[in-house]
Amino acid sequence: MKKQPTKKTKFIFITGGVLSSLGKGLAAASLGALLESRGMTVTFQKLDPYINVDPGTMNPFQHGEVYVTDDGAETDLDMGHYERYTNAVMAQKNNYTSGRIYYSVIMKERHGEYLGGTVQVIPHITDEIKQAVLQLDGAVDVAIIEIGGTVGDIEGLPFIEAIRQLRGDLGREYTLFIHLTLVPYIKTAGEMKTKPTQHSVKGLLASGIQPDILVCRTETPLSADLKKKIALFCNVEPDSVITAVDVESIYEVPLRLHAEGLDDRVLEKLGIWTGAPYIKPWEELVYRIKHPRHTVTIGITGKYVELKESYKSLNEALVHGGIANHVKVEFRYINAEDLEGRDPAEILQECDGILVPGGFGSRGMEGKIKAITYARENKVPFFGICLGMQLSVVEFSRNIAGLDGAHSTELDQETPYPVIYLMKEWLDFRTGKTEIRDENSDMGGTLRLGAYPCRLREGTLAYTAYRREEISERHRHRYEFNNLFRDQLEKAGLVVSGTSPDNTLVEIIELADHPWFLGCQFHPEFKSKPMKPHPLFREFIKAALTRSQKH
Ligand code: GLN
Repeated sequence: MKKQPTKKTKFIFITGGVLSSLGKGLAAASLGALLESRGMTVTFQKLDPYINVDPGTMNPFQHGEVYVTDDGAETDLDMGHYERYTNAVMAQKNNYTSGRIYYSVIMKERHGEYLGGTVQVIPHITDEIKQAVLQLDGAVDVAIIEIGGTVGDIEGLPFIEAIRQLRGDLGREYTLFIHLTLVPYIKTAGEMKTKPTQHSVKGLLASGIQPDILVCRTETPLSADLKKKIALFCNVEPDSVITAVDVESIYEVPLRLHAEGLDDRVLEKLGIWTGAPYIKPWEELVYRIKHPRHTVTIGITGKYVELKESYKSLNEALVHGGIANHVKVEFRYINAEDLEGRDPAEILQECDGILVPGGFGSRGMEGKIKAITYARENKVPFFGICLGMQLSVVEFSRNIAGLDGAHSTELDQETPYPVIYLMKEWLDFRTGKTEIRDENSDMGGTLRLGAYPCRLREGTLAYTAYRREEISERHRHRYEFNNLFRDQLEKAGLVVSGTSPDNTLVEIIELADHPWFLGCQFHPEFKSKPMKPHPLFREFIKAALTRSQKH
């Protein structure tokens, strides 16, 4: 059954031109923040042109991090921006790929739903896209839909066609097209050049879409003359040419776009009346970021250190932890392999805190364990996330509990002490289903994904941070703490400070005789926001600050 528009929700479609990485996701998130600051409710959707059904199996080197939602969807990292900037809660329905759209159409074809018909890009794929978009209809005042990729890409055409049709279906007062482009400064000419923007808008026009607003990424603000020129060539009003100038902190973007009048133009064009925006919290946030009182250095010992995008949420959560403590966080990315066969102090002694993030596979494993030993022995604040937590259990087992050769079975299937292992029979208390699996099970189906409750033990670092008994955090991992070793490890001094409510899954571990040493099986970075720094990141940075002031 096709859903009819409710006429409650207005849709803003954001496309990108000239080149990728212009910050479409940030622009979308910032616009959402501005609309919320006027009392409106917003949601988002990202339509990604690639064929993977979701980014779950994509290499973080290529695609950046996989962002996990409460409902366990493995999504594009832009979902992270949306959640960090607004109150919107992202879920499976907020991220579609071409692969997912095609998959669903092909399944329908197999089930005979198009009986007798020839299944085609138009109307079948485009209808499927439109239905995906319209799922958001009715729930909020404004839905911001970001089209991945760049206008002119072959892959993106069905999405562009679908949003073109949606303007016709929903009407002008319910739809708005924003196009994000680049206005480069060409040094040899000493000028900013508008031609790429003109071409990009022409490309969009060829697909039947006239943008209503242009957001132009530039190094320096566009002059009134240049805005006029762009307006003339691209059929928009000069005040609908918005400059998005490069900024120091990404949290300045909402303020800059507001100063350029983006939200005013959007509301005007959509015929929405709201009160004045309340942007003071954003101003205070940016002030705080720009006026830190201290600096701490955090060493991140991982595998994807070359590409910052692969630890996007983690980096942001550390920044937020800094904001909570008036601290600027300096990042030191350490390739774990560089620690192997070396004195870790050479690399780590400058760090006020050490973090081992999540990850898959065995590369750099011993280097990460070495970093953990260093943090434990030298009482450097340590934060282990997911794989980082698992390895801190391995490190403790080997070096304190005397379990020589202890390991995770992900990394050594022959280990005499499998302290981290794959639960063969596992009751998923979210779905109520018992999963049976082994090392050879299908990779996609065996992850523990999404939000799970966790109960905290009083008097622990975790409890001090959260100040409550039950929390909910997001997961994305296959292996778990092995309860066979729990007694033995606890007797040796390992503190189990958080478990699943039924006490079967160990979710947080700590060390008692250490200023701050904590490992968690979940990914707290997905729930940190600049305005609401995550308690564990806040406390970790606080501990790093204390250490930096002593040394
Ligand atoms: N590779 C580990 C597992 O599957 C940890 C995953 C992670 O850090 N996200 O359990």
